[in-house]
Amino acid sequence: MATRNRYALSDEERAEKRASERELMAEAIEQLRSSKGWQRWLRVRRHFHSYSFHNQLLIAFQRPGATRVAGFRRWLSLGYAVRKGERGLSIWAPCPPSKKKLREWREAGADPENRPRTYFRMVKVFDRAQVDPLPEFPGGPVVLDPPLVPVEGDGLAGLFEPLTSFATTIGYTVVVEEIPGSALGYCSPDRQHIGVETISAEFSANAQVGVEIHELAHALVRCDRHEEDPDLTYGDEEIVVECVAYTVCSTVGLDTSGWSVPYMATWGEGDAIARYAELIDRLATRLEDAVLASGAPAGGREAVAA
Ligand SMILES: [Zn+2]
Repeated sequence: MATRNRYALSDEERAEKRASERELMAEAIEQLRSSKGWQRWLRVRRHFHSYSFHNQLLIAFQRPGATRVAGFRRWLSLGYAVRKGERGLSIWAPCPPSKKKLREWREAGADPENRPRTYFRMVKVFDRAQVDPLPEFPGGPVVLDPPLVPVEGDGLAGLFEPLTSFATTIGYTVVVEEIPGSALGYCSPDRQHIGVETISAEFSANAQVGVEIHELAHALVRCDRHEEDPDLTYGDEEIVVECVAYTVCSTVGLDTSGWSVPYMATWGEGDAIARYAELIDRLATRLEDAVLASGAPAGGREAVAA
């Protein structure tokens, strides 16, 4: 025992650690069943849309107010130091195989079946509220807050075209037109057509982008179906679409703080809720990627580097 590395865990300690990690993950998924937990996830998602679904849940569960997390060393490289005594939160981080392992594998014939795999382990990260800027960081600490714009303005008008181009990639046409009645947009799956109301004194360019996102979510929910997706009734679809629109609008920088977070109480029964949430996350990510790829302004983030 004298030679044992003091950081190495015994089998028993390792089993205990795994069990507590599993329990944490289960609780983070479980939170979706309550409307409060569901809202916590969708609110937090704005800041962590490029994180895995499970990491979003872990962050929402452990630190619902988090806006940006990073590992201790990553914070230092951004010009911030974690405050003494702060407790980190746990999320999954990928651990790619070491160079040594890859070399050994290549030397043994590089059998694709036996290629060393990337596995995931839980690591500690800290929220930005747990760090202080380093006073003498060259060039100053990295700016952390993506700007938000009010729904009334036109700061996001530049997103309309990239979203329209995205629509064509899924076979839909977006047309700006005067829509009779109180509706501001519609999606016709039969004609693969989306109509969006013309901008006016009462209908801002930002609001128009919001409507386009909502109608695109309707189109996506129909053409991006996976086997594991839950069946959606008409009412379910509307809530899924509202959740997608809520989270994508937040991600691209629209101030959604005054919006209520859509929630379907009946989803909380049974284990189905996580499948709805995963569907929402997947569809939202497609729309976010379309916007982010266009280079238009949006709340950007980077991958976890613990
Ligand atoms: Zn709708």
